[in-house]
Amino acid sequence: MNFSSKLLENAVNEVSQLPGIGKRTALRLVLHLLKQPANHTHQLSKALNNLVDEIKLCKKCHNISDVEVCEICANPSRNNEIICVVEDVRDVMAIENTAQFKGLYHVLGGKISPIEGIGPQNLTIDSLIEKIKIGAVKEVIFALSSTIEGDTTNFYIFKQLEKYTIKTSTIARGIAVGDELEYADEVTLGRSIINRIPFENSL
Ligand SMILES: [Zn+2]
Repeated sequence: MNFSSKLLENAVNEVSQLPGIGKRTALRLVLHLLKQPANHTHQLSKALNNLVDEIKLCKKCHNISDVEVCEICANPSRNNEIICVVEDVRDVMAIENTAQFKGLYHVLGGKISPIEGIGPQNLTIDSLIEKIKIGAVKEVIFALSSTIEGDTTNFYIFKQLEKYTIKTSTIARGIAVGDELEYADEVTLGRSIINRIPFENSL
């Protein structure tokens, strides 16, 4: 692409780094931003700056949060005996939307994936085990997507938890294999949490 402006070229290069955005789409988006009143685009860049500078991970569940302990963990009406293990913040949002789960979450930050070089040590599994050791947790629900990586991760954690006297369950698979949780409709996802099955039965 031949740009008439270095400023334009820089902006397009930055936007095209985003996933799924090629150079042409990036150019279209940048030109759109240029046509907007300047304060709109300033607001966008301010929101992004604030996001990267101020966002935190909840020190209990590792969910994305504005404060040290997220709203869910800090809510005294949530049941702290049940922990739902998910991959990332999108899954927390999807399950919260169902309004069917009143326990707490544990956000792993990904799934075990040897191909991508992600091992158990790159996830928050140790922190989950520490929580279990304290002894307040009675049930761990696995709610990872049913991909090979999701299944591998579930099984790895299941093995780590075997020595503790807690229940392990997995969400019922109304969700087709390979589907991501965030795309499941709320009713199906809500039902799959209520109708969860003992993890051993899913093996
Ligand atoms: Zn939290």
